[in-house]
Amino acid sequence: MRETSDILISGGGVAGLTAATALGSAGFRVICVDPTAPVTEAEAEGADLRTTAFLQPSVGVLERAGLWSRLLPHAAPLQIMRIIDAGGAEPMARLVKDFDASEISDAPFGWNLPNWLLRREMVARLAELPNVSFRPGIGFARMLARESEALVSLTDGAQVSARLVIGADGRNSPVREALGIAVKTLRYGQKALAFAVTHDVPHGSVSTEVHRKGGPFTLVPLPDRDGRPASAIVWMETGAEVARLAALPVAEFEAAMTARSTGVLGPLRLVSRRSVWPIISQIAARMSGPRTVLMAEAAHVVPPIGAQGLNMSLADLTCLMGLAESHRDDPGKAAVTEAYHRARHLEVQGRVTGIDLLNRASMAGTPVLRDLRAKALDALYSARPVRQVLMRAGLGVR
Ligand SMILES: Cc1cc2nc3c(=O)[nH]c(=O)nc-3n(C[C@H](O)[C@H](O)[C@H](O)COP(=O)(O)OP(=O)(O)OC[C@H]3O[C@@H](n4cnc5c(N)ncnc54)[C@H](O)[C@@H]3O)c2cc1C
Repeated sequence: MRETSDILISGGGVAGLTAATALGSAGFRVICVDPTAPVTEAEAEGADLRTTAFLQPSVGVLERAGLWSRLLPHAAPLQIMRIIDAGGAEPMARLVKDFDASEISDAPFGWNLPNWLLRREMVARLAELPNVSFRPGIGFARMLARESEALVSLTDGAQVSARLVIGADGRNSPVREALGIAVKTLRYGQKALAFAVTHDVPHGSVSTEVHRKGGPFTLVPLPDRDGRPASAIVWMETGAEVARLAALPVAEFEAAMTARSTGVLGPLRLVSRRSVWPIISQIAARMSGPRTVLMAEAAHVVPPIGAQGLNMSLADLTCLMGLAESHRDDPGKAAVTEAYHRARHLEVQGRVTGIDLLNRASMAGTPVLRDLRAKALDALYSARPVRQVLMRAGLGVR
C-alpha cells in the first residue's frame, strides 16, 4: 500500500535530521529515511568526531525546531576569532589578529558542539514529534515527479507519495542523481584531520586559525573535559601529509601538532581518535527540480573554513521553511521549489567561490605568496569598517 506524506527527506545526516525536526515542529507530516543509522555516542564505531560551530543566524531555525534548548547546555561559545599567520621562515606566529564579536553584536559569533552529540539530541527530539517518522536502515531508491505529487520508492520496496522531496543525502546525493542535476567539483589534493585535545592554557572562548602552508590549522573551543580546557582541531594538509600524520605514534603526533599550533594553547594532548576527511568544493547546477529541493552537501560542499558548511545548510533550511509555511496547502509546488532555487543558488555560489579563494590562500607554500597573504590580512584587519564588514559577511548577516 502507498503511504502519503507532506514531505519526504532523503538523508538523516545532521542537515536532514535538523530539517526533519524543524519541518515536523512546524506541523508538516514528515518521513525521513537514511540507510545508515545515526551514531549517537562518542566512543562508538563510526562516531562523527567533528564539531560544528553554529553561527548566530543559525540559532533561529534551531529554536523553531525545538533543538536549541537541548543543545545550548553542551555548547562552547565562540567570542573571538583569532587568525595567526605563521608563514615565515620558522613555524612561529608573526602576525596575530583578533576579530571580536563584541564589535558587531552583544552575542558571541557562535557556539561549538560535537557532531555525535547533535545526532543524539536530534534523534531524541524526533521521538517527541508524532507527525515525523524517522526510518534509519531504509534509503531513497528512485522517484517519479508528477503534477501533484512525487512518488518515491524506498530500498525496502515501500512507496511514498509526498508533496515535496528534500535531497539532504550528502555530496553523492542519490536524489540529485535521480534528477540528473550536474555538479561542478574542485579538488585540492587536500585532506583534513579532525580530533579533540586538552591543553594547559584556557581557550577563553577564542577560536584560533593558524596559517602556514597546506591549509589552516583550526582550534575551536569545547567545554572542559575531565576538568581540563579542551578544543576541537581541524588540521588541513596535503593528502600524503595527512596520511603520515594520522599514522604517527601519539607522542610524535602531539609534538607535531603543538609545533603547528605555534604553542598558542601550550602543549596539546590528544584525547580522541584522529578522523580523516577528504576536502573538496562542489556546487550543484541547480538547487531544485520538479517537486524536489536539494539542501546541504547534496547542493554545496566547502572546505571547513570559517564554519560555513552546515551554517549554509541551515540558511537553506530557513529559506525553505519560510516558503513551505506560506504554501501549507502544497509545500512542493513549483512556486516553492523555484523560489527556493532563486533565493539560495546565487548566495551559495558566492560563498563557495569565497571559501575556495580563502583555502587556496591558506595552502600557499612559497615564501612570496605567504608574505602576500600576511600583508592582505594586515590590511583588511587594520580598517575597522572593513573588519566589521568581514565579520558580518562571515556570519552571513548584513
Ligand atoms: C573536518 C570538517 C569540519 C567541519 N566543521 C564545520 C563547522 O564547524 N561548521 C559548519 O557549519 N560546518 C562544518 N563542516 C561541514 C559539515 O560537517 C557538513 O556540512 C555536514 O556534516 C554535512 O551534513 P549533510 O547532512 O549535508 O551530509 P552528510 O553528513 O554526508 O549526510 C548525508 C546522509 O545521507 C545519507 N544517504 C546516503 N544515501 C542515501 C539514500 N540513498 N537515501 C537516504 N539517505 C542517504 C547518508 O547515509 C548520510 O547520513 C565541517 C566539515 C568537515 C569535513
